[in-house]
This record gives sequence, structure tokens and C-alpha cells, in this order.
Amino acid sequence: MAALLGCIADDYTGASDIASQLAEQGVRTVQLFGVPDATTEIDADTQAIIIGLKTRTEKVDSAISDSLKALAFLNRQGCARFYFKYCSTFDSTPKGNIGPVTDALADSLDAASVFFCPAFPKNGRTLYQGHLFVNGALLSESSLATHPLTPMTDANLVRWLSQQTQQRVGLLSFDALDQGIDTARNRLNDLQASDHRYILTDALNDHHLEQLGELCAEHTLVSGGSALAPAMAKAWRRHGLLPENTGSEIEAHNLEGHALILSGSCSEQSNRQVEVWKNQGGATIFLNPEELMTQANAVEDIIHSVRDQLADGPVLVYATSPAVVVKQLQADYGREHLGHKIEQAFVEIARQLVPETTQTLIVAGGETSGAVVSGLNLKALTVGSTIAPGVPWMHQHDTQPLAIALKSGNFGSDTFYQEALQRLHSGVGHE
Ligand code: ADP
Repeated sequence: MAALLGCIADDYTGASDIASQLAEQGVRTVQLFGVPDATTEIDADTQAIIIGLKTRTEKVDSAISDSLKALAFLNRQGCARFYFKYCSTFDSTPKGNIGPVTDALADSLDAASVFFCPAFPKNGRTLYQGHLFVNGALLSESSLATHPLTPMTDANLVRWLSQQTQQRVGLLSFDALDQGIDTARNRLNDLQASDHRYILTDALNDHHLEQLGELCAEHTLVSGGSALAPAMAKAWRRHGLLPENTGSEIEAHNLEGHALILSGSCSEQSNRQVEVWKNQGGATIFLNPEELMTQANAVEDIIHSVRDQLADGPVLVYATSPAVVVKQLQADYGREHLGHKIEQAFVEIARQLVPETTQTLIVAGGETSGAVVSGLNLKALTVGSTIAPGVPWMHQHDTQPLAIALKSGNFGSDTFYQEALQRLHSGVGHE
């Protein structure tokens, strides 16, 4: 049977986020990285395909073009429902890309109306009368107002989205949801009758999301953050579009070798996670940026040591450093040049050791993960159990057994790596 859901996410970690929320609902989910090519194959029993793109801050034309190519792939797979996933803080500029990409997808799918539901109440992102709040503060008064790439200076998302599209944007407000599904449906019909093709939805809590899941179950195209996904999966089951949740098991593979952890993130949380791993006696190797910039054999030497240590147990290789150190290194070597050099070192380490020496890999850092995934030429991974919110174990099994987890900088508790390995060894099935 063809997959029901085809999802296009505007970044990789956002793709993992929605993928893990679906997998937790027992939906058999596959995550793809970048626009899939003709050789990408999807298992026949897949129920949701999530394509992670890097279109959030790309130029509008290429964001549209990549998204339409991804859509064409999902159409070829026979998907019947489509989701455009963006950030729960609606990261975009007045020129796009959320509006223009949705326009292109909606026209291509001939969608009569499209929901916009960024809210993620459990993570403190709520929508009230069309205004987005982040942990109780208006979006425009939160730290997102000064985001370097997408400063969110207006919390009124009807107004913000209207700058990005010619379509009329209407609001399905929380009071309609509070009055029950029939009232909400009538309100929705009124909005559609008055030519509002785009419907921004309030949501203050998970109950509102459950109702929105029901309201959008029959819609071809829905857009939003990841929090609506579980409610949609439940509604699709009620409507007979998905079979009952049988807690589908992903086979536990006989993974060879001890886990390799690569930490290229320098976030505060990543620094803490490295520290805790070290303090608890975990093996570590420092990928010294200065040596990398000045010594020709630095990467080869590291690979040699990592291979030796992997014989005895899991190894964490890190370039992760506190902000003051990073600042100085960037001043000495140039931010982009240095960042790229470190990412490429991680790619080289992974390529030399995966899968021959180890078949278990964890990567910390959004950019670092993107580089390693591309370097290993990974295309389709089955999404397994959740380690921490937004971070699932993923598995490749057809071609070469491999378990991989990609952690964006701020995600995961202090003991994330310990938890990840525990979870892997206690079984890799869906929950
Ligand atoms: P995050 O998800 O925390 O933003 P990323 O991997 O996206 O992590 O970005 C971290 C960037 O910092 C990468 O380009 C990485 O190569 C670079 N980096 C890692 N360690 C250092 C360091 N010690 N000094 C300077 N840059 C570093």
C-alpha cells in the first residue's frame, strides 16, 4: 500500500521532530534528507514519508523549486495527504518562505484551503487570537524578535503571513474550538465561503490540537509545526485512513561495534553533555581545531586513536568548546572556514569508521549532522524510538545495518548520550 502522508520540512532537525512524533504514534515513518533522487527507494509498508530540506532561509525561488521537486517525489509514491512543516515560531521574513512555498504546494495540489498551525503548547508556543506567544511572551517581544536570519517582529501571524501571499488569510480562533467541533466546522465553512483560502488556527492546549486534527483529517494539504502530527494520526485512524496502531516493531539489528559519538555543536547544552559524559568515565577524544588548522595529519591521527578506543567501548569525539574559546578561534581562523574544516573532519571520521568499525552513530549539531549525513550518502532512514523530544533513533537496514541519531545543539538532557545508548540496547522498536 502507498504511504498516506508525504511531509516536506524546511530543515533537517524539524523533519526529525515531526518524524519522531509520528513514530511515537506507531506510524511507520521514513525520513529522507534533501530532494530525493530517482534511486531513492521506500519500503512498501511505510505510512509516512518525511523529506527534510534546507529551505527555511534559502532564496524564495530555490525554496519553491526544491519543495515542488519533493512534492513530485511524494506524488509518485502515491501519498494522499501532504504536510508542509516549518518552525513553531513561524521563522520567516515578510518576503517568505512559508507563504510562497505554501502557494506553490497548494496550487500544485489544487488544495481548496490550507491550515496553518504552528502552535506547540507543550513547548510553550501558543496561538491566541492569531498572536503567537513564546513561553507567555509575545513572539515580537521574545528572543526571536532579534533572530539573525528571520527576526520575528510582529506576533500577529495573520498580518505576517498576509505579507507573504496573495491569498486571503482567515483566523479560526480558540473560542470556536472551545464551543465544540460542530461550531468550529461551521466557522471554518464561513471562512472558506468568504474566500479565505488560508486558515491560521489558534491553539492554547493539546485539546485544541486534537480538534484541529479532526478538522483537517480530510484536507489534502496542511501546514504547521510538529505538534499537530499526533492529533492528525489519531484522526486518520478514526477515519479509517490508517490502520489501528499495532505498535509496529522495527527489528533490532545485530549492530556491530561500539557507538561513535561526534559532537560538533558548541551550544551550552552540548558543552554540558560532553562534560557529563566525561565525568561519568566515558571515553573522549578532543578534535582540536588549532591542530586541525595547522597540522596536515591531524584527522588521520584522530581516526587512528578513535579506531583503537572503539575496540573497548563507545567513544565521544568532540570539537565542542565554550563560547569564549569558539570566539577566539573564529577570530584567528575565520568563522566559516573554521566551521567548514571541523565539519569536514567529522565527515572524514565517519566515512572511515562507519559502517566497517561501528554501525552505531550519534551526531550533535544541526550543520554537523547535515554534513555527516551527506558525507555518508544516507538517503532514507526508518524512524524508531524517541530518545528525547525531537530526537529519534533512525535505522537503515536494507542496504547496511546502521543506527543513527542526530541531535540539534539545544536538544536532549545532560545525560543524553547515556540515555541514547540505553534506549538502543533496550530495543529499537516503536513505543
Ligand atoms: P548547533 O546545532 O549547536 O548550532 P551546528 O553543528 O549547527 O551546531 O553548528 C556548530 C558549528 O560550529 C559547526 O560549523 C562546527 O564545525 C563549528 N564548531 C565546532 N566546534 C568548534 C570550535 N571549537 N570552534 C569553532 N567552531 C566550532
